[in-house]
Amino acid sequence: MTVQTLRSSALLSCASLLWFAAAAGGMPSAAQRDLLMRQEASRQMGGGVTLTAAERRLDADLRRLKEREMSAAQFPPALHFFKARPLIRESPVFKLLQKMPKGGALHVHTSSLVGAEWLVKNVTYRPHCHVCFTWDNSVRFVFSERRPFPRWDCFYWQLLGTLRARIGDASGFDDSLMQHLTLFTEDPDGEYPSQEVVWEKFEKVFIAAAGLITHAPVLRDYFYRGLEELLQDNVMYLELRSGLSKTYELDGTVHDTAWTLRTFQEVTRRFVADHPDFLGARVIFSVHRALSVSEVKAAVKEAIQLQADFPDVVAGFDMVGREDSGRSLWYFRDALALPAELGVALPYFFHAGETDADGTDVDQNVLDALLFNTTRIGHGYALAHHPLAKELSRKRNVAVELCPISNQVLRLVSDLRNHPAAVLMSEGHPMVVSSDDPSLFGTTGLSYDFYEAFVGIGGLKANLGTLKELALNSIRFSSLPPHLKDKGLVMWQKKWDAFIFDHS
Ligand SMILES: [Zn+2]
Repeated sequence: MTVQTLRSSALLSCASLLWFAAAAGGMPSAAQRDLLMRQEASRQMGGGVTLTAAERRLDADLRRLKEREMSAAQFPPALHFFKARPLIRESPVFKLLQKMPKGGALHVHTSSLVGAEWLVKNVTYRPHCHVCFTWDNSVRFVFSERRPFPRWDCFYWQLLGTLRARIGDASGFDDSLMQHLTLFTEDPDGEYPSQEVVWEKFEKVFIAAAGLITHAPVLRDYFYRGLEELLQDNVMYLELRSGLSKTYELDGTVHDTAWTLRTFQEVTRRFVADHPDFLGARVIFSVHRALSVSEVKAAVKEAIQLQADFPDVVAGFDMVGREDSGRSLWYFRDALALPAELGVALPYFFHAGETDADGTDVDQNVLDALLFNTTRIGHGYALAHHPLAKELSRKRNVAVELCPISNQVLRLVSDLRNHPAAVLMSEGHPMVVSSDDPSLFGTTGLSYDFYEAFVGIGGLKANLGTLKELALNSIRFSSLPPHLKDKGLVMWQKKWDAFIFDHS
């Protein structure tokens, strides 16, 4: 019996049970109550997963550990992640999640793939790195053989190595550089009192990191390092949202989008050859929603071409940037309808519903994303408030990419127990967990987000079956062709069996 049939039959018998209880009018029996509870639990994420004896033992351990964390004085999911991180690092549940094979990361952006520490301690120590501080206390980097010309609000460029030596306190100086490349702070509420303020810093960080990452030799190492950080956290696959920015060499030569894509492909192949337990990586070509309709049309055409040239690498297309201050998907309808008009299939992976502005044009993005046949929904924070969109996405198996830490840091929700995805999880809506912008939030891999989803959003109801389904979903709902999904599922099962064996 499939999970779906189980759920429908549960629904039927549940309705008749309630009718009998009401008709009898007397004291409901403990057996009736127990049945109702089991039937409701069967609908939740992972409710249809049957656990082996060894898995049930681990599940019982996990439950005990979770109960202990819930009754502690400070419950990490109720705190801002920047304050919760030290507590989470000590959590036995988190340590288990780190070891658990989590499948794929389906919602991560290029500019924030690799930790800020690597950028500062490795990249800014390379020769020819120049730095400049702008009037609004932001920073720019560029690699150049000679002193760079004024650009990007910068008139005074200095060789970073010389400046670091002159200042003397290298570690203090590096810490200050790090502050420009991450949102992480000890005082998140003081520094980011509103969504506007945190988004402003968010965009600044991307601009600051761009000069480092778009240097061609750095990008090559950056991709490799990004895959390494994922594998270290037991993640075996990546779908990366990327604008495929042009890259530059030391002598000023500029490479185009296709070069960036080819480099991504080469690095991924090399990484898989070095680490055969890693499945691979693909790109979702993404452009900013601040662009004009004609610019987005050009980008859609470019995506179609790139997909034809790199069918193994390009998964599809998305639009990025803050939804609340950007234009709605409907605004770009002429551009987004292009593939259908041209008779080409270009899968969409839209960010949609990353908002708490109920009823606005932007809030309709979830419905518009489905109108344009999106393959998955990035965030879908607003989805629980859209009954029809929720029904459609469920019927069409359109998974929501849940990024809990991102939603909290960008101030959609403060206590993660109140995240609307709790509703989606309790209904077993198609879903995957991802990290969005790990370097900005001070995370690596997926374990931190799995922790928040499992302990905070899922509560005590979420169990090992939930975790198993979330991990399997990341392969099922990936953009991979069927034969690679099968390969991925076999690879994942092997890792899962080893994980369970280690804990039995
Ligand atoms: Zn995103």
